[in-house]
Amino acid sequence: MLADLSSSPTPYHAVERARALLEGAGFASVSIDEPLPSGGRFMASSGGLLIAWATPAGGVEPGYTVVGAHTDSPNLRVRTNPDVASAGWEQVGMEVYGGVLANSWLDRDLGLAGRVVVTSGRPGAASPETSVVLVHDERPLLRIPQLAIHLDREIREKGLLLDPQKHLVPLWGLGEGDPGTFADYVAERAGVEVGEIVSWDLMAYDTHAPAIVGRDGDMIASARIDNLFSTFCGVHALIEAADSPGARVPVLVLYDHEEVGSESATGAGGAVLANVLERISAANGVDRTGHLEALARSLVVSADGAHATHPNYTDKHEPNHRIAVNGGVVVKRNANQRYASDALSEAPFRSACASAGVPVQTYIHRNDLPCGSTIGPITAARLGVPTVDVGAPQLAMHSIREMAGVADIGHLTQALAAMWRMT
Ligand code: ZN
Repeated sequence: MLADLSSSPTPYHAVERARALLEGAGFASVSIDEPLPSGGRFMASSGGLLIAWATPAGGVEPGYTVVGAHTDSPNLRVRTNPDVASAGWEQVGMEVYGGVLANSWLDRDLGLAGRVVVTSGRPGAASPETSVVLVHDERPLLRIPQLAIHLDREIREKGLLLDPQKHLVPLWGLGEGDPGTFADYVAERAGVEVGEIVSWDLMAYDTHAPAIVGRDGDMIASARIDNLFSTFCGVHALIEAADSPGARVPVLVLYDHEEVGSESATGAGGAVLANVLERISAANGVDRTGHLEALARSLVVSADGAHATHPNYTDKHEPNHRIAVNGGVVVKRNANQRYASDALSEAPFRSACASAGVPVQTYIHRNDLPCGSTIGPITAARLGVPTVDVGAPQLAMHSIREMAGVADIGHLTQALAAMWRMT
């Protein structure tokens, strides 16, 4: 898990890592825009999205068991015109992506990673062809220093107040700022000429490596636990379950853009999963009516971070639903359907956990706090398939450095594998 987390600073890298792990287990890459093959173990990806499946001997008629997670995490993303200079400092202009706990980004040694689209020919070449270069610069390039306490007299009474436009601009050098400085840096890292760069999706990340922490070494601290923890438990569970799948087709879908509402071509709000499932059915000789019947026999498990009970803020948690780190997987319930689980959809998950010897806890949000959501309700609505929202307990969700339990890696992995093995 630590290696999975550190090699995945962006959704694109998370997909590359997942692809490499799955490829090692015999999953063949298929292009998402070409006909899908029948049978077998396959994966298709696009940017921060990956869909992998392993067709059992019984074909697709029994339906699909889909496990969904997301590859994106809140962070800071480089603007198109990023070069900024102020007071003798050169800075990189950033957009805030998702619900960042902004204070946690201060005083960190930040690296840069993402994808760069380049022309495949030389500058001025007539070819419209482009290609994608992944960039992962592990050097500590960027910092957002916090204002000294002597210059922020209100911090004691009001706490830290950050204006995302003014106060989250990382600095990366001294100087008066030449336009094009950042593009020159990108060209060098991508190994291309600056004139070959068409566009980029680049983002900052914490260069501090994931670590095993705590007196007993039973917790992990890392960036992007929400939701690469579920992502890689899902990948490892699929590799395990593909050797002995149950009746339904095991499908893993890793979406992008959950942190900004999932409404995108590679997000849970888009048509991509429904389309790929229908194409898998067609490739295996099942017509549309047969496919819709198979969908009606399907199940979705949406795996995303769950709030563990914070000992310093016990009053923020529902007192009758305490969640313990390393206490097992969490089923998330919400009467207002912010989570998709209901009594019927959680039943098969609970029995899969029982068969695998995995303890189950139940998360319910307080009535006096607004509840977050996840890909579960969106996927349930798009597919019309019963869905259970689950996850591993964690603290500091959306901080640049979150915390979870080592034992819960095994708990979630075994729970997901057991779901895929159900007959
Ligand atoms: Zn999440």
